[in-house]
Amino acid sequence: MSALLEKENNSAITPITPSDLNNPVTFPTFWGLPSEYEINDTYLYSTKPRKHWCFLGKIISSSVLVRLALEVEDKEGHRLLVAFHTDDRGAAFLDQCKEGHTIAVLYATQHTFAFSPPGLRLEQDVHVKIFPYSLDEMLEASSELFEKGMAKRCDGCDKTDTPLKKCSACNGAWYCSKGCQTDCWQAHKQRCPILKEIQWFARKNWENSVHQYFFPRHPRGWHVPQRSRNALPNMMPQARGF
Ligand SMILES: [Zn+2]
Ligand SMILES: [Zn+2]
Repeated sequence: MSALLEKENNSAITPITPSDLNNPVTFPTFWGLPSEYEINDTYLYSTKPRKHWCFLGKIISSSVLVRLALEVEDKEGHRLLVAFHTDDRGAAFLDQCKEGHTIAVLYATQHTFAFSPPGLRLEQDVHVKIFPYSLDEMLEASSELFEKGMAKRCDGCDKTDTPLKKCSACNGAWYCSKGCQTDCWQAHKQRCPILKEIQWFARKNWENSVHQYFFPRHPRGWHVPQRSRNALPNMMPQARGF
């Protein structure tokens, strides 16, 4: 019992940064979300939210009757219904909603359905994005990104006392030389496109921005990131911070 308390105290000393997908306030579970009818001290939702949050869930299954509906599992394994009440009733997302992929919903609130347990009622396309990666992969990549941000070291040889360059595709991996980048590429190329997606979350000011966030829309419909890249990206000189 005392060991458990000690562990909890330690984790309280090093809080998870607000932009890390593992942060439970910025990226809450379903029961951590504000209710659609309730004024909530943590999440002040209006046309200009002062606090931003995003629900993340794993897609378990999808069905289409009147509209696209998903069964989704949150970070703690709670399953809920996600129903698309967007203008096209979810048609824009239909091809992307595959089992095991991850759905992100900005400013999600708990909705009480008439004939189903509480879930999410999605109304705005621009607040929804589907990622072709598992939630676990995204959470792991996010941890990795923030750990590396704290202590930059070469992915190949662990050197820190030399000028490092970062992978230009994801800005999330550091190398001392082209040789080290080449050696790491087989291992990095799966993670690289995921890190690139996570940078969108990492660069937001979730606590103080006065602007509402939207997922960027691709000019020719929704941008679906490609899972694999084969070309070795360029390296960019080290920049301050991220
Ligand atoms: Zn190196
Ligand atoms: Zn990369």
